[in-house]
Amino acid sequence: MLTTKGYAALEADKKLEPFNFERRSVESRDVLIHIRYCGVCHSDIHQARDEWGGSIFPMVPGHEIVGTITKIGSGVTKFKEGEVVGVGCFIDSCRTCHSCKQGLEQYCETGMTFTYNGTDKLGQPTYGGYSNQIVVDENYLLRIPSGLSLAGTAPLLCAGITTYSPLKQWGVGKGHTLAVVGLGGLGHMAVKLGRALGAEVTVLSRSGSKQQEAKRLGAIDYVDMSQEGAGKRLERTFDFMIDTVSSPHDLNAHFEFLKTDGTLMLVGAPDQPLSIEAFSLILRRRRLVGSLIGGIQETQEMLDFCGEHDITSDVEVIPIQQINEAYERIIKGDVRFRFVIDLESLE
Ligand code: NAP
Ligand code: ZN
Repeated sequence: MLTTKGYAALEADKKLEPFNFERRSVESRDVLIHIRYCGVCHSDIHQARDEWGGSIFPMVPGHEIVGTITKIGSGVTKFKEGEVVGVGCFIDSCRTCHSCKQGLEQYCETGMTFTYNGTDKLGQPTYGGYSNQIVVDENYLLRIPSGLSLAGTAPLLCAGITTYSPLKQWGVGKGHTLAVVGLGGLGHMAVKLGRALGAEVTVLSRSGSKQQEAKRLGAIDYVDMSQEGAGKRLERTFDFMIDTVSSPHDLNAHFEFLKTDGTLMLVGAPDQPLSIEAFSLILRRRRLVGSLIGGIQETQEMLDFCGEHDITSDVEVIPIQQINEAYERIIKGDVRFRFVIDLESLE
């Protein structure tokens, strides 16, 4: 076993604290990764605070991992020691179901193995990237394109793929208007990726405070939704909307901003149900679709796309000792635009 240092939530209502634990030793198809950076996703907060239910404690969160391979198993063929690699939201799946065979491991019929807050095939709890090392089967690793900043690349492993996948699935591109709702970790990646795919991007935010940054990220328009009547000028404006909001909110207001045949892509995962007015959809043949991260193949495609277009996340790098403060700032929307933990701070 490998003694590993990390930070964990011991219970839902406790702050994260230093936590040592054991990981499995490197087996034939495994690699051992020395973790350099790990992004802080709002899903980490939902799970560490058990907002979705079913959380497993102690929990070491973190599923936006980049690091260096320090050891490979005897059967590893795809990666070498010293290579820089990424790990996203899952580290295994059944590999035999219809979804897995199509490269859609995130929709595995028997359930993928989450990088943390999951249980592996041996029935052991999984622990994530708020730690100094991780052991992962080579089939669930990603290659990091050279030339990208490593800290800025970590959030691509969740925020990047979660927004790239529905944009690609629904064919968002040149000639389309795209609204990004919520300018946080996912939202700012949706702006960059939507723009790179050729869409005209508008940001809808709760306040006016992120306007300049939205334009810098590539949005052509920005709407402060807290202003009286702000929605009026948006009626029937967009071909697509991508909703990244982390708390319960009114979807029906958003539907009105879609054209006939427009599509609302829901990726935000609030802990309460969202209600839908049937006529918001019926009257203009609008669509509501969901999307969950992306498969290994598509995540690699997204990373390569980011390499070609020089796209990374805008990050605030923090030592792990500041993680609890970072959670509070994320909840307030006070981060530009993703916290990334420098795991050197654990040593
Ligand atoms: P984040 O950085 O906190 O961003 C969420 C943004 O939503 C905030 O910055 C804020 O933007 C907006 N917002 C929050 N509360 C709001 C409210 N009450 N009303 C209106 N807007 C509000 O979070 P994230 O890491 O991007 O994650 C966003 C959501 O996606 C989370 O629920 C997360 O669990 C989920 N997620 C889903 C997937 C998936 O596979 N589908 C993957 C990763 C994450 P403004 O300040 O601009 O208003
Ligand atoms: Zn995430």
